[in-house]
Amino acid sequence: MAAAAWQSRGDCPPDAVGYRVVVATNLSGVGRGLFDMGTLNAIHDKMIKAVALAGGRIDSIFFCPHAAESTCECRKPRPGMLREVAMRYNTDLKGVPAIGDSLRDLQAAAAVGAQPILVLTGKGVKTHDHPDLPRETLVFPDLAAAAGHIAA
Ligand SMILES: [Zn+2]
Repeated sequence: MAAAAWQSRGDCPPDAVGYRVVVATNLSGVGRGLFDMGTLNAIHDKMIKAVALAGGRIDSIFFCPHAAESTCECRKPRPGMLREVAMRYNTDLKGVPAIGDSLRDLQAAAAVGAQPILVLTGKGVKTHDHPDLPRETLVFPDLAAAAGHIAA
């Protein structure tokens, strides 16, 4: 999973520190029929509420439902999903912080000129040692530390 955040420019109200937050995630389980849209919506709902309880806000969730062997443009590390985010919000993702724990999150971020940020939770420690890690990647111990850096 990866999240991108950027400074708001008007149209809808940003969160407390002036950022919009979107989630972009590969969910091949949808394409493989492991869960349906109702289950997916329930999971996303739970996540949005948990974040809201902690004082945050997720503006939207983008996902690629296609199988791992798919050649779709939206499955990370391909940049299609992030391009869709840019289009939907009519914004340029250049330099926009994009946080993830897996290599493909950071590769997708780098492909659109966003600022890849690696967190050392989940798969993060393993990702940190990968030779293909984008050189411009910033590294933080966890999401809270990364968010603190962005909001500072
Ligand atoms: Zn896809």
